Amino acid sequence: MYVQIFTGLSTAGQFGFQVSSDNETNVNGFSSQFISLFPGFCPVDNRPDIFVCQKTAEIELRVSEFIDRYKENVPKIYEVYTFIKRQSNGAFFCILPYELTSQREQVTLVDLLNAFEQNLDFEEVNKLTSQLFGAFLDSYHVFVYGPERARIGEHHRGKRICRFCKKDAMKTSFKKKAHAISEALGNKNVAVLEECDSCNEKFGQTLERDIITYFSFYRTFYGVGGKEGVTSIVGKNFKLCREPELTLKYYKSEDDPEEDDHLEIMNFRLKMHEKLSLQNIYKTLCKFFLSAVRDEFLPHFEETFKWLNGEILQHQLPKVGIWYSFEEFLTQPNILTVIRKSDDQEIPFAVGEFHFLFLRYVFILPCTNTDRFNYLSSDQFEVFLNMFTHYRDMPGMKWLDLSNAEVKPFEFNFRMEPNDSKT
Ligand SMILES: [Zn+2]
Repeated sequence: MYVQIFTGLSTAGQFGFQVSSDNETNVNGFSSQFISLFPGFCPVDNRPDIFVCQKTAEIELRVSEFIDRYKENVPKIYEVYTFIKRQSNGAFFCILPYELTSQREQVTLVDLLNAFEQNLDFEEVNKLTSQLFGAFLDSYHVFVYGPERARIGEHHRGKRICRFCKKDAMKTSFKKKAHAISEALGNKNVAVLEECDSCNEKFGQTLERDIITYFSFYRTFYGVGGKEGVTSIVGKNFKLCREPELTLKYYKSEDDPEEDDHLEIMNFRLKMHEKLSLQNIYKTLCKFFLSAVRDEFLPHFEETFKWLNGEILQHQLPKVGIWYSFEEFLTQPNILTVIRKSDDQEIPFAVGEFHFLFLRYVFILPCTNTDRFNYLSSDQFEVFLNMFTHYRDMPGMKWLDLSNAEVKPFEFNFRMEPNDSKT
């Protein structure tokens, strides 16, 4: 069997597909036709296999015609059209006649494209990236879930085993669609096939309900909806709704401080009916990670699953980092699974990132079977930050303690300032 793999890469995404045939001439014929769709140049002297092209309407048309010819035999080729269509005219992208498996190479190529797009010196851009991410990329795999449609796990329903309770299709059922990230947070793209109906229901009423409450203000404010669309929040002393404009109704309660007419800045303490535990927020972030992570890594998380299910308790957990990315506002949430590939057991085996709207969270997966440290002491946390230096240097990064498992009333502070306020 003759196989040829192609990868496309841009700063906005990538595609990958393969063609195979018993006949070498067929594969070679297809390959040369495919490559000729993209008139480009080789920007790296010793790498004639890297073509860089610029998106034009003509390329889009040619790709569309080519796909019409081959979509029956190579269904995945449709991704090439989606990839090209997503680029703005004039944007640079790479076409590679091989599978892109090295994260380091991927980052270098993205640097190269960025340098073209922004007219910067590639060597300078790449040197900076290596300083920032070099050691990290040599030690970790990074997988991103959310930007593309994905169905994670065993596709054959009868062969599924639930990731969370370990029951197979004989002992439980897999009829309902399970989302790797809660649907109410806007996720339509990523489904997990290996979550059974009873776990789906259980987590929906416990962990995920808490994280939906935790983000309720952002959901209503930014109009993020699940199946029921955008929901209003009816709290104990307020209502936040979109009817159709965003409206906050605040009902003063007796224990509020006396009103001051001259007050220029107003602080509202908005009290929800729902209660939640902060540790459930940590657990849900880990659940999103474990829903998305590749099957081959699951055996390392046996104890983590027990903790999620409440079979073992953790009274203290590593700090969770939060920062804001106002340049990149997401309409669908993403989860990144960062998995150690080196043997160094002093750096965390698994680290997750959760991206929701402009909020970014980073968390260490607790209770894995291959970590020497638990990252609770400041010395051990320092070991983590010495490897993940980009978190240490992130402007505005805050480290939160989400260890508290006590269920408490949830409130958030809302601050209003008049336009002419000097602050
Ligand atoms: Zn289950």
